[in-house]
Amino acid sequence: MEIQRLADQIDRLITLDLPFRGVIDVLYPSARERAGEPLAMKAAKELHRLLKAKDVVLIATGWPDRPHISPEIAETDGPPGAAALGRALHRGLKVIPFFLIEENLVGPMERVVQSAGFRVLPPKETIAAGDSPSAIHAAAVLGFPSESKRAKKKATLLMNTFKPAAVIAIEKGGMNEKGIVHTSRGHDTTEPMAKIDFLMEEAIHRNVLTLGIGDGGNEIGMGNIREEIKQKLPFGDKCLCPCGSGIAPVTQTDLLVTATVSNWGAYGVSACLAILLKKPDVLHDPETERRILEQAAGAGFIDGISGFVEPGADGLAAEVHCQITSLLNLIVKKGCSS
Ligand SMILES: [Zn+2]
Repeated sequence: MEIQRLADQIDRLITLDLPFRGVIDVLYPSARERAGEPLAMKAAKELHRLLKAKDVVLIATGWPDRPHISPEIAETDGPPGAAALGRALHRGLKVIPFFLIEENLVGPMERVVQSAGFRVLPPKETIAAGDSPSAIHAAAVLGFPSESKRAKKKATLLMNTFKPAAVIAIEKGGMNEKGIVHTSRGHDTTEPMAKIDFLMEEAIHRNVLTLGIGDGGNEIGMGNIREEIKQKLPFGDKCLCPCGSGIAPVTQTDLLVTATVSNWGAYGVSACLAILLKKPDVLHDPETERRILEQAAGAGFIDGISGFVEPGADGLAAEVHCQITSLLNLIVKKGCSS
C-alpha cells in the first residue's frame, strides 16, 4: 500500500508536462491503463525480480536529430537517462551495463557514461571487473549499426555472446509497420537511427526481459499503446513522409515507461529501485545529474528543442532536471525510511 502511494507520486512527478507539449497526457493514461499499475515501479519490480549480480544488461539510446546537417549531431535526451539507469542497476543489483548507441556516437557516449561513475572498458575487461577483488565499476559502450542487415547480425551476435538478462531502450526511434522511423513531427528519420528494433525482436524471441522508455510516442516500446497513438497523436496514423502509415511503432516491450522527458522515465525507474532495495544512493543525486548533463553537452550532444549545445534536455534547463532529481530523492528518502 505504502509503496503503491510512493510509486504513484513518482509517476506523477516524471509526467509533469513542464514543456507544455501535451503528448504525455495521451501516452501516460494509455500506458498506465495497460500496465494496471504505476509504470516506473512496475519496471523496477520486474528488473529487481529478474536481474542478479554480474548479469549483462543492454541499454540502448541515442537520437541523431539533425541528420540533414550531420549524423554526428544527437540530442541530450536519452544518453543521460541511460547512464543514470545503468548506474542505478549496477549499484542496486550489481549488474554489468553495456550501453549501445549509433556507431559514430560511441566516443561522446563514453564521456556521458564515465560522468555517471563508470570506467568505460572493452566488453571482456568490463565483465572481468565484476570479479575484481578491489573495487572497479566498469561499463562498455558499443556501437550498434544503423544499416539493417548489419544491425540484424549484430543483434544476434550480442545476444549469443553476452546473453543479456534484460534489454532496455531509452528514447530510441522505433519502426512502424513499414520499417520507417519517424520524428515526432512526422518526418522520416530512419537512416541515421541504430536499428534497435532488431535487437528487441531477438530479445523477445528469447524471452529476455524488455523495457522501453519514451516521451514522444515514436520510440521503441510504444507498440504497447499503438492504437491509442494512432487515434490520438498528431501524425499517429498519418505521417508527413511518403510511407503514409504514421509514427506509431510496432515493437512491443514487456514494460513501457512514458515520461515527459525520456531521461526522467529512467530516473523514475532508478528511484523505484532505490525504494525497493531501501538504498537511497541507488538513485543519483542532483549534483551527479548536473555533472552528467554538463558532460553530455561537453561531448557535443545538443538540446533537441533549443538546438544549442547546453546542459539541458528537451528545452528545459539543467536546473529543472536537477530539481526533478531532487524531488525524486525526497520521495526515495521517504520510501527508504518508512
Ligand atoms: Zn512515414
